[in-house]
Amino acid sequence: MKKKKKEESALSVMPGIEQPSQVSHDAVSRLRKSRGKVISEDEFFDGIRLGDRVLLSQAITLIESTRHHDQHLAQKLIERCLPFAGNSIRIGITGVPGVGKSTFIEAFGSYLSAAGHQIAVLAIDPSSSRTRGSILGDKTRMEDLARDPNAFIRPSPSAGTLGGVARKTWETVILCEAAGFDVIFIETVGVGQSEIAVHSMVDFFLLLMLAGAGDELQGIKRGIMEMADAIVINKADGENVRKAQVAASQYRSALALFPMAESLWVPPVVTCSSREKTGVPEVWDVIEQYREHTTENGYFSNKRSMQSKIRMHQTIAEQLKTHFYHDQHISGIIASYEKALDENKMSAYIAAKELLELYFLRE
Ligand code: GDP
Repeated sequence: MKKKKKEESALSVMPGIEQPSQVSHDAVSRLRKSRGKVISEDEFFDGIRLGDRVLLSQAITLIESTRHHDQHLAQKLIERCLPFAGNSIRIGITGVPGVGKSTFIEAFGSYLSAAGHQIAVLAIDPSSSRTRGSILGDKTRMEDLARDPNAFIRPSPSAGTLGGVARKTWETVILCEAAGFDVIFIETVGVGQSEIAVHSMVDFFLLLMLAGAGDELQGIKRGIMEMADAIVINKADGENVRKAQVAASQYRSALALFPMAESLWVPPVVTCSSREKTGVPEVWDVIEQYREHTTENGYFSNKRSMQSKIRMHQTIAEQLKTHFYHDQHISGIIASYEKALDENKMSAYIAAKELLELYFLRE
């Protein structure tokens, strides 16, 4: 009986029902304004489930907040949203600055929106606290998509370590999925660690490149190419078309040398022009094929469950580490151990072991 009720309530909000967000948006926001007070957990949750963009944005702000009360509320919301999350394809997009990521996301997002999808665009950019929002921070980027009622764009959380930013982005994914978004883009710059963080939270990882191979192979680390589920050679327009095709075949040869991925998926290389919007539907075809292929062989769901386990272990490791280094006693004596290492009076292993013993035995 209980189960039936649950199924019914889930059915009433399944994606596919026409645009609930547009119907509910005003009503929920009006409710919020009319009360002019703190929004309750239930109001947040109901608003998110109805696709209210204002409440979704405010809930994400709670995730990003460092205030204890906000964090507490955010975690409760995430927990409530989790059973409704997961009904999307999560796509990571990377490439060096200037390759055309935002132009591509704009073209791709508009194409998907016209096809009836609801698109959320998020970003991981741990450097943005320094450069004042280098990813998605600039309001002139993705102008069309920003106005599209089927799209939701959220800049990268602007403060914190990569681990912290990644966690906030991940929690934002959960809320967006619970709000009915079925295509989630997570953008990152192709220059370092943030790719690994994005790779660990997406189903499909797309690498954008430019024609004129050689330079690009160096600009993008080999490890990032190995993570790619597809390579898109962007700016295949005008005089560049031929060069893009040559580059595509060079990348195909390069990828053929990589070992077969666990997904048993051979990453295709396609060309596109984000500016002229050519080749964009083909990219979606590739992603659909990937989804079909990996759903059939079980990799799609295995990867997701593996990712959440990794996330749990990473969180434990991070929190233990933070707790350890913030421990007053430990932080008071750690310098003396470092000194002992400098003077060759102690091995690093013994020093670590002693410090850990001091930490755990004190509890
Ligand atoms: P991002 O830094 O990777 O996000 O790159 P942007 O999307 O900001 O694009 C960098 C520049 O490349 C801009 O001047 C775009 O207009 C241009 N651009 C992006 N995509 C294309 C394309 O498909 N063709 C051409 N010709 N230019 C493009």
